Amino acid sequence: MSGPCSEHRHRRAFLRTTAAAGAALTAAPGWAQQPRADAMPKIVLGRTGQSVSRLGMGTSWTVQPSFVQAAIFAGVSYIDTAEGYENGNSEKTVGEVLERTGKRKDVFLVTKNSSYRKDGSPRVFADKLEASLQRLKTDYVDAYYLHGLTGEQIPMLFDDGVRQAFEALKRQKKIRFAGLSCHDARLVEVVEAAAKCGWIDQIMIQYNFRTMHADALRRAVDAASKANLGLVAMKTQGGAEAVSLDDARKARQLSGFLDKGFSAPQAAIKAVLADERFQVVVSEMTNRQHLRENMGAVIAPLTPKEARLLEEHRQRTAQLYCHGCGHLCEPAAGGSVAIAETLRYLRYHDVYGKRRRARELYAMLPPAARDFAQADLRAAEQACPHGVQLVALMDRAGRVLS
Ligand code: SF4
Repeated sequence: MSGPCSEHRHRRAFLRTTAAAGAALTAAPGWAQQPRADAMPKIVLGRTGQSVSRLGMGTSWTVQPSFVQAAIFAGVSYIDTAEGYENGNSEKTVGEVLERTGKRKDVFLVTKNSSYRKDGSPRVFADKLEASLQRLKTDYVDAYYLHGLTGEQIPMLFDDGVRQAFEALKRQKKIRFAGLSCHDARLVEVVEAAAKCGWIDQIMIQYNFRTMHADALRRAVDAASKANLGLVAMKTQGGAEAVSLDDARKARQLSGFLDKGFSAPQAAIKAVLADERFQVVVSEMTNRQHLRENMGAVIAPLTPKEARLLEEHRQRTAQLYCHGCGHLCEPAAGGSVAIAETLRYLRYHDVYGKRRRARELYAMLPPAARDFAQADLRAAEQACPHGVQLVALMDRAGRVLS
Protein backbone atom coordinates (compact mmCIF):
# COMPACT_ATOMS: atom_id res chain seq x y z
CA MET A 1 0.00 0.00 0.00
CA SER A 2 1.37 3.32 -0.87
CA GLY A 3 -0.06 6.75 -0.60
CA PRO A 4 -0.72 8.06 2.87
CA CYS A 5 -0.42 4.59 4.13
CA SER A 6 -0.88 4.05 7.45
CA GLU A 7 0.16 5.25 10.74
CA HIS A 8 -3.21 3.91 11.78
CA ARG A 9 -2.10 0.72 13.43
CA HIS A 10 0.90 2.32 15.10
CA ARG A 11 -1.28 5.12 16.33
CA ARG A 12 -3.88 2.70 17.62
CA ALA A 13 -1.24 0.81 19.58
CA PHE A 14 0.22 4.06 20.83
CA LEU A 15 -3.21 5.27 21.92
CA ARG A 16 -3.93 2.01 23.71
CA THR A 17 -0.78 2.47 25.70
CA THR A 18 -1.47 6.10 26.39
CA ALA A 19 -5.03 5.37 27.43
CA ALA A 20 -3.67 2.93 29.97
CA ALA A 21 -1.39 5.64 31.22
CA GLY A 22 -4.42 7.45 32.47
CA ALA A 23 -5.40 11.00 32.87
CA ALA A 24 -2.25 12.70 31.70
CA LEU A 25 -3.07 12.46 28.04
CA THR A 26 -6.72 13.18 28.40
CA ALA A 27 -5.56 16.55 29.60
CA ALA A 28 -3.83 17.18 26.27
CA PRO A 29 -5.50 19.93 24.26
CA GLY A 30 -8.13 18.74 21.84
CA TRP A 31 -8.69 15.30 23.25
CA ALA A 32 -11.82 15.90 25.18
CA GLN A 33 -13.36 18.39 22.83
CA GLN A 34 -15.87 17.65 20.13
CA PRO A 35 -14.58 18.79 16.72
CA ARG A 36 -16.20 21.98 15.54
CA ALA A 37 -16.16 22.73 11.82
CA ASP A 38 -15.55 26.43 12.37
CA ALA A 39 -12.42 25.58 14.37
CA MET A 40 -10.73 23.83 11.45
CA PRO A 41 -7.89 25.98 10.06
CA LYS A 42 -7.92 26.49 6.29
CA ILE A 43 -5.13 27.37 3.91
CA VAL A 44 -4.57 28.00 0.21
CA LEU A 45 -3.07 24.96 -1.48
CA GLY A 46 -0.16 26.40 -3.44
CA ARG A 47 -0.74 27.25 -7.08
CA THR A 48 -4.14 25.58 -7.12
CA GLY A 49 -5.43 28.67 -5.30
CA GLN A 50 -7.99 26.48 -3.54
CA SER A 51 -8.84 26.89 0.11
CA VAL A 52 -8.62 23.56 1.92
CA SER A 53 -8.55 22.30 5.50
CA ARG A 54 -5.08 21.85 6.96
CA LEU A 55 -6.14 18.40 8.09
CA GLY A 56 -6.76 15.98 5.26
CA MET A 57 -8.34 12.56 5.46
CA GLY A 58 -6.50 9.53 4.11
CA THR A 59 -8.54 6.50 3.13
CA SER A 60 -6.05 3.73 2.53
CA TRP A 61 -7.65 1.77 5.34
CA THR A 62 -11.26 0.68 5.44
CA VAL A 63 -13.24 3.72 6.50
CA GLN A 64 -16.82 3.62 7.66
CA PRO A 65 -19.26 5.93 5.83
CA SER A 66 -20.46 7.34 9.15
CA PHE A 67 -16.93 8.35 10.04
CA VAL A 68 -16.23 9.93 6.64
CA GLN A 69 -19.40 11.93 7.11
CA ALA A 70 -18.39 12.93 10.66
CA ALA A 71 -15.00 14.15 9.41
CA ILE A 72 -16.60 16.25 6.67
CA PHE A 73 -19.05 17.78 9.10
CA ALA A 74 -16.13 18.49 11.44
CA GLY A 75 -14.58 20.64 8.72
CA VAL A 76 -12.25 18.21 6.93
CA SER A 77 -12.50 19.43 3.35
CA TYR A 78 -9.51 17.60 1.86
CA ILE A 79 -10.01 13.89 1.11
CA ASP A 80 -7.34 11.69 -0.39
CA THR A 81 -8.22 8.35 -1.93
CA ALA A 82 -6.93 6.09 -4.72
CA GLU A 83 -8.15 3.48 -7.16
CA GLY A 84 -6.05 0.90 -5.34
CA TYR A 85 -7.21 1.53 -1.78
CA GLU A 86 -9.18 -1.43 -0.53
CA ASN A 87 -9.61 -2.53 -4.16
CA GLY A 88 -11.70 0.51 -5.03
CA ASN A 89 -13.93 0.28 -1.96
CA SER A 90 -12.46 3.43 -0.40
CA GLU A 91 -13.46 5.42 -3.48
CA LYS A 92 -16.93 3.87 -3.30
CA THR A 93 -17.37 4.79 0.37
CA VAL A 94 -16.25 8.37 -0.20
CA GLY A 95 -18.50 8.66 -3.25
CA GLU A 96 -21.55 7.37 -1.40
CA VAL A 97 -21.04 9.79 1.46
CA LEU A 98 -20.50 12.78 -0.83
CA GLU A 99 -23.61 11.92 -2.80
CA ARG A 100 -25.78 11.34 0.26
CA THR A 101 -24.64 14.48 2.09
CA GLY A 102 -24.55 16.73 -0.99
CA LYS A 103 -21.07 17.82 0.08
CA ARG A 104 -19.17 17.13 -3.13
CA LYS A 105 -18.60 20.81 -3.90
CA ASP A 106 -17.37 21.49 -0.35
CA VAL A 107 -14.61 18.90 -0.58
CA PHE A 108 -11.27 18.98 -2.38
CA LEU A 109 -11.18 15.42 -3.67
CA VAL A 110 -7.98 13.68 -4.72
CA THR A 111 -7.67 10.26 -6.30
CA LYS A 112 -4.69 8.46 -7.72
CA ASN A 113 -3.77 6.15 -10.55
CA SER A 114 -1.40 3.28 -9.87
CA SER A 115 -2.27 1.32 -13.02
CA TYR A 116 0.37 3.25 -14.95
CA ARG A 117 2.98 1.08 -13.29
CA LYS A 118 1.74 -1.92 -15.28
CA ASP A 119 0.42 -0.16 -18.37
CA GLY A 120 2.88 2.50 -19.43
CA SER A 121 0.68 4.04 -22.14
CA PRO A 122 -0.62 7.57 -21.42
CA ARG A 123 -4.15 6.32 -22.20
CA VAL A 124 -4.21 4.52 -18.86
CA PHE A 125 -4.83 7.78 -17.04
CA ALA A 126 -8.04 8.59 -18.90
CA ASP A 127 -9.23 4.98 -18.92
CA LYS A 128 -8.79 4.39 -15.21
CA LEU A 129 -10.11 7.80 -14.24
CA GLU A 130 -13.52 6.89 -15.67
CA ALA A 131 -13.81 3.95 -13.28
CA SER A 132 -12.68 6.12 -10.35
CA LEU A 133 -15.26 8.78 -11.20
CA GLN A 134 -17.99 6.15 -11.28
CA ARG A 135 -16.99 4.81 -7.87
CA LEU A 136 -16.73 8.35 -6.51
CA LYS A 137 -20.15 9.22 -7.99
CA THR A 138 -18.86 12.48 -9.41
CA ASP A 139 -17.93 13.83 -12.82
CA TYR A 140 -14.63 15.38 -11.75
CA VAL A 141 -11.90 15.14 -9.14
CA ASP A 142 -10.03 18.15 -7.88
CA ALA A 143 -6.67 16.48 -8.28
CA TYR A 144 -5.50 13.35 -10.05
CA TYR A 145 -2.17 11.81 -9.09
CA LEU A 146 0.48 9.52 -10.37
CA HIS A 147 0.36 7.27 -7.35
CA GLY A 148 3.62 6.35 -5.65
CA LEU A 149 6.01 7.65 -8.31
CA THR A 150 9.47 6.15 -7.93
CA GLY A 151 12.88 7.41 -8.92
CA GLU A 152 12.92 5.11 -11.95
CA GLN A 153 9.69 6.69 -13.13
CA ILE A 154 10.94 10.29 -13.05
CA PRO A 155 11.22 10.36 -16.89
CA MET A 156 7.41 10.18 -16.99
CA LEU A 157 7.30 13.72 -15.64
CA PHE A 158 9.13 14.91 -18.75
CA ASP A 159 7.22 12.67 -21.15
CA ASP A 160 5.03 14.75 -23.48
CA GLY A 161 2.46 11.96 -23.80
CA VAL A 162 1.89 11.80 -20.04
CA ARG A 163 1.71 15.57 -19.66
CA GLN A 164 -0.74 15.81 -22.58
CA ALA A 165 -2.91 13.08 -21.08
CA PHE A 166 -3.31 15.13 -17.88
CA GLU A 167 -3.83 18.36 -19.82
CA ALA A 168 -6.56 16.71 -21.89
CA LEU A 169 -8.32 15.60 -18.70
CA LYS A 170 -8.15 19.18 -17.44
CA ARG A 171 -9.66 20.50 -20.68
CA GLN A 172 -12.45 17.94 -20.39
CA LYS A 173 -13.02 19.21 -16.82
CA LYS A 174 -12.58 15.73 -15.41
CA ILE A 175 -9.66 16.85 -13.25
CA ARG A 176 -8.76 20.31 -12.05
CA PHE A 177 -5.15 19.74 -11.02
CA ALA A 178 -2.37 17.24 -11.57
CA GLY A 179 -0.22 15.78 -8.86
CA LEU A 180 1.85 12.90 -7.62
CA SER A 181 2.53 11.05 -4.41
CA CYS A 182 5.87 9.61 -3.40
CA HIS A 183 7.54 7.77 -0.56
CA ASP A 184 10.32 6.28 -2.61
CA ALA A 185 13.96 6.07 -1.57
CA ARG A 186 14.61 8.65 -4.30
CA LEU A 187 12.05 11.04 -2.86
CA VAL A 188 14.40 14.01 -3.11
CA GLU A 189 14.88 13.52 -6.87
CA VAL A 190 11.15 13.05 -7.40
CA VAL A 191 10.36 16.29 -5.57
CA GLU A 192 13.01 18.16 -7.56
CA ALA A 193 11.63 16.79 -10.83
CA ALA A 194 8.05 17.69 -9.85
CA ALA A 195 9.19 21.25 -9.18
CA LYS A 196 10.96 21.40 -12.55
CA CYS A 197 8.59 19.68 -14.96
CA GLY A 198 6.06 22.52 -15.06
CA TRP A 199 2.74 20.63 -15.12
CA ILE A 200 2.51 19.12 -11.65
CA ASP A 201 0.36 21.33 -9.41
CA GLN A 202 0.69 19.55 -6.08
CA ILE A 203 2.55 16.72 -4.43
CA MET A 204 1.97 14.49 -1.44
CA ILE A 205 5.15 13.12 0.08
CA GLN A 206 6.37 11.23 3.09
CA TYR A 207 7.45 13.94 5.50
CA ASN A 208 7.87 13.63 9.22
CA PHE A 209 9.97 14.49 12.25
CA ARG A 210 12.41 11.68 11.44
CA THR A 211 13.15 12.79 7.91
CA MET A 212 12.31 16.49 7.60
CA HIS A 213 15.65 17.84 8.75
CA ALA A 214 17.76 16.16 6.07
CA ASP A 215 19.49 18.87 4.01
CA ALA A 216 18.77 17.30 0.62
CA LEU A 217 15.07 16.96 1.37
CA ARG A 218 14.88 20.50 2.71
CA ARG A 219 16.44 21.82 -0.49
CA ALA A 220 14.06 19.80 -2.67
CA VAL A 221 11.07 21.03 -0.68
CA ASP A 222 12.40 24.57 -1.09
CA ALA A 223 12.39 24.10 -4.86
CA ALA A 224 8.84 22.75 -4.78
CA SER A 225 7.74 25.61 -2.58
CA LYS A 226 9.36 28.18 -4.90
CA ALA A 227 7.48 26.57 -7.81
CA ASN A 228 4.38 27.17 -5.65
CA LEU A 229 3.33 23.52 -5.72
CA GLY A 230 0.67 22.52 -3.24
CA LEU A 231 2.57 20.62 -0.55
CA VAL A 232 0.84 17.83 1.29
CA ALA A 233 2.55 15.67 3.90
CA MET A 234 1.76 12.01 4.52
CA LYS A 235 3.21 9.45 6.92
CA THR A 236 3.69 12.27 9.34
CA GLN A 237 3.90 9.99 12.34
CA GLY A 238 7.31 8.59 11.55
CA GLY A 239 6.49 5.86 14.01
CA ALA A 240 4.68 4.03 11.26
CA GLU A 241 8.10 3.14 9.95
CA ALA A 242 8.70 0.51 12.63
CA VAL A 243 9.42 -2.57 10.61
CA SER A 244 8.25 -5.28 12.94
CA LEU A 245 5.81 -5.57 15.81
CA ASP A 246 8.72 -6.16 18.17
CA ASP A 247 10.28 -2.91 17.08
CA ALA A 248 7.00 -1.05 17.46
CA ARG A 249 6.73 -2.38 21.03
CA LYS A 250 10.30 -1.41 21.82
CA ALA A 251 9.67 2.06 20.45
CA ARG A 252 6.73 2.52 22.77
CA GLN A 253 8.76 1.30 25.75
CA LEU A 254 11.57 3.68 24.87
CA SER A 255 9.16 6.56 24.67
CA GLY A 256 8.96 7.33 28.35
CA PHE A 257 6.74 10.32 27.82
CA LEU A 258 3.38 8.85 28.52
CA ASP A 259 3.14 10.38 31.96
CA LYS A 260 4.09 13.85 30.85
CA GLY A 261 0.92 14.95 29.12
CA PHE A 262 2.68 14.46 25.81
CA SER A 263 0.91 13.12 22.76
CA ALA A 264 3.51 11.96 20.24
CA PRO A 265 0.98 11.64 17.37
CA GLN A 266 -0.16 15.21 17.95
CA ALA A 267 3.37 16.54 18.26
CA ALA A 268 4.37 14.75 15.06
CA ILE A 269 1.61 16.51 13.11
CA LYS A 270 2.41 19.85 14.70
CA ALA A 271 6.09 19.45 13.81
CA VAL A 272 5.21 19.05 10.13
CA LEU A 273 2.78 21.96 10.13
CA ALA A 274 5.40 24.12 11.81
CA ASP A 275 7.14 23.90 8.44
CA GLU A 276 5.22 26.66 6.73
CA ARG A 277 5.99 25.33 3.26
CA PHE A 278 3.48 22.50 3.86
CA GLN A 279 -0.19 23.30 3.67
CA VAL A 280 -1.93 20.02 4.47
CA VAL A 281 -1.30 16.93 6.56
CA VAL A 282 -3.12 13.85 5.33
CA SER A 283 -3.80 11.49 8.18
CA GLU A 284 -5.18 8.01 8.28
CA MET A 285 -8.00 8.40 10.75
CA THR A 286 -10.71 5.88 11.21
CA ASN A 287 -12.50 6.98 14.36
CA ARG A 288 -13.57 10.06 16.25
CA GLN A 289 -10.72 9.87 18.72
CA HIS A 290 -8.23 10.19 15.85
CA LEU A 291 -10.27 13.06 14.48
CA ARG A 292 -10.38 14.91 17.80
CA GLU A 293 -6.69 14.40 18.34
CA ASN A 294 -5.76 15.50 14.83
CA MET A 295 -7.94 18.57 15.08
CA GLY A 296 -6.22 19.46 18.32
CA ALA A 297 -2.90 19.10 16.51
CA VAL A 298 -3.77 21.34 13.56
CA ILE A 299 -5.32 24.00 15.78
CA ALA A 300 -2.53 24.41 18.34
CA PRO A 301 1.09 25.10 17.34
CA LEU A 302 4.01 22.91 18.45
CA THR A 303 5.21 24.00 21.88
CA PRO A 304 8.92 24.12 22.79
CA LYS A 305 8.30 21.29 25.26
CA GLU A 306 6.68 19.11 22.60
CA ALA A 307 9.51 19.85 20.18
CA ARG A 308 12.07 18.79 22.80
CA LEU A 309 10.24 15.58 23.72
CA LEU A 310 9.68 14.67 20.07
CA GLU A 311 13.38 15.09 19.34
CA GLU A 312 14.20 12.93 22.36
CA HIS A 313 11.74 10.31 21.09
CA ARG A 314 13.36 10.44 17.63
CA GLN A 315 16.83 9.91 19.02
CA ARG A 316 15.83 7.06 21.33
CA THR A 317 14.02 5.12 18.65
CA ALA A 318 15.94 5.90 15.43
CA GLN A 319 17.38 2.40 15.07
CA LEU A 320 13.92 0.80 15.12
CA TYR A 321 12.73 2.54 11.97
CA CYS A 322 13.62 2.01 8.36
CA HIS A 323 13.57 5.35 6.60
CA GLY A 324 13.33 3.90 3.09
CA CYS A 325 16.73 5.30 2.09
CA GLY A 326 17.74 2.22 0.12
CA HIS A 327 20.35 4.18 -1.84
CA LEU A 328 22.43 4.15 1.35
CA CYS A 329 22.43 0.42 2.17
CA GLU A 330 21.61 -1.35 -1.10
CA PRO A 331 24.88 -0.54 -2.92
CA ALA A 332 26.79 -2.07 0.01
CA ALA A 333 24.76 -5.26 -0.42
CA GLY A 334 25.73 -5.55 -4.06
CA GLY A 335 23.14 -3.28 -5.59
CA SER A 336 20.39 -5.59 -6.81
CA VAL A 337 18.53 -6.61 -3.67
CA ALA A 338 15.62 -4.32 -2.68
CA ILE A 339 16.19 -3.78 1.04
CA ALA A 340 14.05 -0.68 1.55
CA GLU A 341 11.07 -2.08 -0.33
CA THR A 342 11.34 -5.46 1.34
CA LEU A 343 11.37 -3.85 4.78
CA ARG A 344 8.38 -1.73 3.80
CA TYR A 345 6.44 -4.84 2.83
CA LEU A 346 7.54 -6.53 6.05
CA ARG A 347 6.07 -3.54 7.89
CA TYR A 348 2.79 -3.95 6.00
CA HIS A 349 2.80 -7.62 6.98
CA ASP A 350 3.87 -7.36 10.60
CA VAL A 351 2.79 -3.96 11.82
CA TYR A 352 -0.21 -3.12 9.65
CA GLY A 353 -1.49 -6.69 9.44
CA LYS A 354 -1.88 -6.49 5.65
CA ARG A 355 -0.41 -9.91 5.09
CA ARG A 356 -1.82 -10.87 1.73
CA ARG A 357 -1.13 -7.46 0.21
CA ALA A 358 2.43 -7.54 1.57
CA ARG A 359 3.05 -10.91 -0.08
CA GLU A 360 1.53 -9.74 -3.34
CA LEU A 361 3.75 -6.65 -3.43
CA TYR A 362 6.81 -8.65 -2.51
CA ALA A 363 6.07 -11.17 -5.28
CA MET A 364 5.98 -8.29 -7.78
CA LEU A 365 9.62 -7.42 -7.09
CA PRO A 366 12.01 -8.67 -9.77
CA PRO A 367 13.70 -12.00 -8.87
CA ALA A 368 17.11 -10.31 -8.45
CA ALA A 369 15.62 -7.90 -5.92
CA ARG A 370 14.53 -10.90 -3.82
CA ASP A 371 17.75 -12.86 -4.17
CA PHE A 372 19.12 -12.27 -0.68
CA ALA A 373 21.57 -15.15 -0.99
CA GLN A 374 23.59 -13.11 -3.47
CA ALA A 375 23.59 -10.02 -1.27
CA ASP A 376 26.06 -8.96 1.38
CA LEU A 377 23.50 -8.01 3.99
CA ARG A 378 26.08 -7.61 6.74
CA ALA A 379 27.83 -4.92 4.73
CA ALA A 380 24.44 -3.30 4.13
CA GLU A 381 23.72 -3.34 7.85
CA GLN A 382 27.00 -1.60 8.51
CA ALA A 383 26.19 0.98 5.87
CA CYS A 384 22.83 1.85 7.43
CA PRO A 385 23.33 5.19 9.19
CA HIS A 386 20.33 4.54 11.44
CA GLY A 387 21.59 1.28 12.90
CA VAL A 388 18.69 -0.82 11.60
CA GLN A 389 19.36 -4.52 12.22
CA LEU A 390 18.48 -5.43 8.71
CA VAL A 391 20.14 -8.87 8.56
CA ALA A 392 17.61 -10.29 10.99
CA LEU A 393 14.75 -8.32 9.47
CA MET A 394 15.53 -9.46 5.93
CA ASP A 395 15.77 -13.01 7.16
CA ARG A 396 12.28 -12.69 8.61
CA ALA A 397 11.02 -10.98 5.46
CA GLY A 398 12.28 -13.84 3.33
CA ARG A 399 10.38 -16.30 5.48
CA VAL A 400 7.04 -14.54 5.89
CA LEU A 401 6.71 -12.82 2.52
CA SER A 402 7.71 -15.69 0.22
S1 SF4 B 1 17.98 -0.31 6.32
FE1 SF4 B 1 18.83 1.69 6.91
S2 SF4 B 1 19.89 2.49 5.07
FE2 SF4 B 1 18.56 0.79 4.43
S3 SF4 B 1 16.67 1.76 3.80
FE3 SF4 B 1 16.38 1.22 5.95
S4 SF4 B 1 17.05 2.97 7.15
FE4 SF4 B 1 17.80 3.29 5.04
